[in-house]
Amino acid sequence: MKDLSSRIAALDPGKRELLLKRLQHQADERAREPRIAEAAPSSPPVARFDVVVLGGGLAGQTLARQIKRARPETTVLVTELRPHPVPESAHKVGESTVEIGSHYFAEVLALQHHLTTAQLRKAGLRYFFPSGANDDVARRVEMGASYFPPVPSYQLDRGRFENALRADNAAMGVEFWDRVKAGPVTRQGDTHHVVLERAGSPCTVACRWVVDASGRAGLMKRQLGLARESGHKCNAVWFRLARKIDPDEWSDAPHWQDRLPKGLRWMSTNHFMGRGYWVWFIPLAPEATSVGIVADAALHPISEMRSFELALGWIAKHEPLCARVIEEHRGTLMDFLALKHYAYGCAQVFSGDRWALTGEAGVFTDPFYSPGSDFIGMSNTYISDLILRDLAGEPIAARAAEYNRIYLNTYESFLTVYENQYPLMGNPRVMAAKIVWDFAIYWGFLTLQFLTGRLCDLELQAKAGHTLQRVNHLNARVQAFFRQWDALEGRDCEERFIDVLDVDIMRRLHYELRDNLPGGELLERFSQNLGLLESLAAALFHEAASLLPNPPNRPVNPYAISLHPEQWEEDELFHPGKTVEVEAVAAGTMEKIRLTTAIQQHSLVDVAHAG
Ligand SMILES: Cc1cc2nc3c(=O)[nH]c(=O)nc-3n(C[C@H](O)[C@H](O)[C@H](O)COP(=O)(O)OP(=O)(O)OC[C@H]3O[C@@H](n4cnc5c(N)ncnc54)[C@H](O)[C@@H]3O)c2cc1C
Repeated sequence: MKDLSSRIAALDPGKRELLLKRLQHQADERAREPRIAEAAPSSPPVARFDVVVLGGGLAGQTLARQIKRARPETTVLVTELRPHPVPESAHKVGESTVEIGSHYFAEVLALQHHLTTAQLRKAGLRYFFPSGANDDVARRVEMGASYFPPVPSYQLDRGRFENALRADNAAMGVEFWDRVKAGPVTRQGDTHHVVLERAGSPCTVACRWVVDASGRAGLMKRQLGLARESGHKCNAVWFRLARKIDPDEWSDAPHWQDRLPKGLRWMSTNHFMGRGYWVWFIPLAPEATSVGIVADAALHPISEMRSFELALGWIAKHEPLCARVIEEHRGTLMDFLALKHYAYGCAQVFSGDRWALTGEAGVFTDPFYSPGSDFIGMSNTYISDLILRDLAGEPIAARAAEYNRIYLNTYESFLTVYENQYPLMGNPRVMAAKIVWDFAIYWGFLTLQFLTGRLCDLELQAKAGHTLQRVNHLNARVQAFFRQWDALEGRDCEERFIDVLDVDIMRRLHYELRDNLPGGELLERFSQNLGLLESLAAALFHEAASLLPNPPNRPVNPYAISLHPEQWEEDELFHPGKTVEVEAVAAGTMEKIRLTTAIQQHSLVDVAHAG
């Protein structure tokens, strides 16, 4: 303390005042933090661990593995309500992974062998925009990869994955107690006590760290009053069929058959989209298929789809071709589940008092870009880092507060991508642009930071803070802009394939995920990528503004774009110091995703008559 006081005294007055304000703020925050109640355990503990994890699903088991790999002498208990082994195929959703989650599983947890031998390599996310009555898949605009993206991702059979994790973790010395209901947590000094109940008999275990990984049961969230509602109101229903369903077989049209190598569509996460909804088809090894509907609650209420029969009827109305395929295989139905208002927030997820929430026990945004495993990878990485530092004797309170702030900010910025945006799924031009934009943000910053192993680098975070804040501002502006564009844009489009790894910005940012960016190089890359986004925002503006009566043909300020000409002066859209040029890579991107209007049947007839 003396050392800290003398270091503070040695600072110049301005810096000292800033630091003192910050320390005061941290102290105030900690005083407001919820506390686990102090109490003696209800019975003497039957065992003591360094870490007890409540819930042995994906988040809980991967966390145990991450800690054990980094510090093998750590004693870890995972408690799980369900009996193990769990069933394959029809276990849980969370089957499609993207780059952060895949890297976390394959590289951080060293599960590459399991992923490549027992699961399916994924051919990226694939989108089908609406066309007419959605009864001819070959007439829809398709957006996806034409080869396996070089930075890999996987389709997971969750039951198979959780069983393999349990067996592997046990071999590493992780204790796994199934059929155990974890109950309330109390603390006594530095020790936490957790009540566990098995077959009606309660017992208590003691631990230094307690981590809630109980998913939507949200054990500690409820105990500590941390639950926060989200304004993003969407619902989901899903089911599994014990059949391989390959969209390649959905049309005989030569352009559909010849466009892609056989099987590539099947190995993608396929999204069939319309206004306010998407329907997923995900292949599961060896021969099952996961199907789900995700929809904006205001446009497609859950009452229209809350049983298999209702859901099938709903699909028949909006996606008749998908419904025909499901109908054909309905005899192989394995399960059916529905979830209302799946998104939610949380007041706090990490604490210096040695408790944490991970996975769905904390926050959940939206499954559209499959970020669930990303959030697990990130929260587990923060939690492991805190636990390892604490066990090494390092004070962690300030770091826990900072990780908590960053993680909850990440949740908020992800939410901006989805909230109020489901109606855009019915608009091919706007949605194609949004998908490019959303991937550029995802790959250009957070994914790079995670893949280069710098998630917990607070020095980097401090230095990159300004750039990342600008990214968030720009993103909020562009997401609102997409809604304005949707209001003006026509939906009728000629059939086409958009090859995402041929779209300039997407190709560049995806391939650059393989770069090693030590020291300041990552910061430099963030700045370059922000420049790229600014240029893309300007290009998007010019594309959409061409729908206005007098589109401006000059550089614009990307942070001020809108399709409200009356606002432009006030928003400083043309402010000379703030405008950017559209770089070639952004112009090239727009070229690749521009969709032509379908020639109407009647105009062909007119042409024939004229001829
Ligand atoms: C519609 C939808 C689609 C999704 N699609 C994807 C996707 O494609 N890709 C993706 O990455 N993510 C996806 N997700 C998110 C994904 O499902 C979650 O990220 C993931 O399942 C969360 O894992 P978890 O371990 O936190 O929770 P869970 O897997 O639910 O694990 C929690 C565990 O805690 C146990 N438990 C509960 N209460 C107790 C108790 N009292 N005592 C002991 N144990 C207890 C439960 O039995 C369970 O096994 C989707 C989510 C939704 C809603």
